[in-house]
Amino acid sequence: MDKVYDHTKFEADIYRQWENSGAFTAKVDKKKKPFTIIMPPPNANDPLHIGHAREVATQDILTRYHRMRGESTLWLPGADHAGIETQFVFEKKLQKEGKSRFDFDRETLFKMIWDYVQENKSTMENQLRTLGASCDWSRNRFTLGPEIIKVVYKTFKRLYDDGLIYRGERIVNYCPRCGTAFSQLEVDSVEREDPLYYLDYGGISIATTRPETIFADVAVAVNPEDKKYKNLVGKTATLPLIGRKVPIISDSLVDKSFGTGALKITPGHDAVDFEIGQKHNLSAVSVIDSSGRIVNTPEKYIGLKAPEARAAVVEDLNANHLIKKVETIKHVVGVCYRDKGLIEPMLSKQWFVKISPLAKPALKAIHAGQVKFTAEKYEKIAVYWLKNLRDWNISRQIVWGIRIPAFRCDKCLEWTITEGPPPEKCESCSHTKLTQDPDTFDTWFSSGQWPFATLQTTKRGDFEYFYPTSVMNPAYDILPFWVIRMIMLGLYVTGKPPFKEVLLHGLVRDKYGVKISKSKGNIINPIEMVQKYGADALRVALIWGSLVENDNSVSEDNIKGQRNFANKIWNVARFVFMQSPAKKAKKNTDDLEIIKHLKVTSRNITRLLEKYRLSEAAEEIYDFIWHKFADVYIEKTKERREEAQKTLELVLQESLKLLHPFMPFVTEVIWQEGKERFDSPILISAPWPK
Ligand SMILES: [Zn+2]
Ligand SMILES: [Zn+2]
Repeated sequence: MDKVYDHTKFEADIYRQWENSGAFTAKVDKKKKPFTIIMPPPNANDPLHIGHAREVATQDILTRYHRMRGESTLWLPGADHAGIETQFVFEKKLQKEGKSRFDFDRETLFKMIWDYVQENKSTMENQLRTLGASCDWSRNRFTLGPEIIKVVYKTFKRLYDDGLIYRGERIVNYCPRCGTAFSQLEVDSVEREDPLYYLDYGGISIATTRPETIFADVAVAVNPEDKKYKNLVGKTATLPLIGRKVPIISDSLVDKSFGTGALKITPGHDAVDFEIGQKHNLSAVSVIDSSGRIVNTPEKYIGLKAPEARAAVVEDLNANHLIKKVETIKHVVGVCYRDKGLIEPMLSKQWFVKISPLAKPALKAIHAGQVKFTAEKYEKIAVYWLKNLRDWNISRQIVWGIRIPAFRCDKCLEWTITEGPPPEKCESCSHTKLTQDPDTFDTWFSSGQWPFATLQTTKRGDFEYFYPTSVMNPAYDILPFWVIRMIMLGLYVTGKPPFKEVLLHGLVRDKYGVKISKSKGNIINPIEMVQKYGADALRVALIWGSLVENDNSVSEDNIKGQRNFANKIWNVARFVFMQSPAKKAKKNTDDLEIIKHLKVTSRNITRLLEKYRLSEAAEEIYDFIWHKFADVYIEKTKERREEAQKTLELVLQESLKLLHPFMPFVTEVIWQEGKERFDSPILISAPWPK
């Protein structure tokens, strides 16, 4: 053995050795307990970042531990096509080349993104190997794989047949820059200051921050309890600039304290107004189209972008003395989570999933403890969202995703939904010319089915044996997007929750506690760190010092520090291997004491790993190897080397096992160096200490 452990000489070979040993490939074995983790599939549009590396370290530690416990262990890898995220990244790339998505037809654009993603996907998979991920590559899945799409179509059809999917004209959160609608969760709320204009509506004045939408007004509404307007209800108001008369109605949804207490009702551009409009049978008019430009107004505004139109309308209102006063207000507006630009609430026909019938069983499962959150704070957030989600808009106006299997009849305009090949004729009138909806599914609609969609399409018997899975370990920021939808859809389709426990993890921060991001310039590239210090050092640094559920600060120095630990165990092994293998032991009190310490340590580590307390478990083994084994016991054996050899070998063997989940490479290299002294030919499959 070299004097110093050089990870670059060993890691790739060791990974191949594990893979060839078959240890990664899970087997359905009714005599054994299954342990299953479905890897949150990383986006296939980008290399892995440091946050992924922490997630990989966590899941690999758990996987290796359970595998050594003798459980039938499956860690199922995958890659996410990541719908809008990927299309966004790709469009930026096109932009740099002076092109846009509108330069290509649907098929060409899809193919271009597909090729781009395949390339990134294989980079990402190699990076998982570099980090030592002991996942089952024979069951690798991609969210756009044909077998997955089949499952997703089946679920859509079933939801449709059960009346849980409807096509509705609703106010959707539309981003004119991204060119698509979003669900409620993809809209960020920000506080802004804007002018509030008090406008003359002919005998009644109303306050608005959006004067460009007055052409879409269909009524003025007041609160029924508001005495000052009592006599006006049933009369009419006059829209400024165009002079159209609209009814004055009363509705309890109107906030008496806002502005003048009279509200302009614009069902085409506001969700609350849409609701009021539905109740009062009012029509909905759109004056902003999907590119964010003005339509259906007096000629002079048509074609302007919404903010330009606002300025022009204000100017004309001023010239006609129709603005009574202007105040500045602070209010909350919705912005696109991607580009931070203003969301235009817009009238649109989209596919919706009824949430309440899905959310109720999910809440019940959480309350009954069928799905446990390891941290109470996250359970509270999950429950909050399950109680507060509105119906889910699942159609996206992008090409990169799973195209919705809905076909519209050219004759009767009814929809036919299919889970198989395109229908030959309309379900309603048997007409044979049908056109497929151009929209794709919200990426979370398909990834919300991931745990059962994967296991139902891998090997025969997998679903029955490995589902419900043991633990789900994504970052906490996708709890509402993903975790609660997996619970809802998993319960709906299979009758069982998709996982027993949810171990949400925190983010990686830099040494100053600042979130790591490209824009902050504090990126730590995990692959570079592996090249410099070894995968083992990186893995331990990422889980050290913090609960999985919390954020963790990491610096290059921390990683370097853990490399010293890899060297420590290397040197311990070199010392033990200097002496030829022992035949039998002659134990003194030192030997008995180190064996006693070893037993306590292994019990503690087992207990901590069962509770996902990885950092404390790592500290236990660190303390044992460094302080009890190396500093004290080894020193004492130097006088009675031959006698102690058997105990040295035993303690080293058990230490390597306990350290293996955390530092898989160096421990396996050492094991292979001295395997004739140990109880198993390969460490990855060795039995966990009792
Ligand atoms: Zn956007
Ligand atoms: Zn028809």
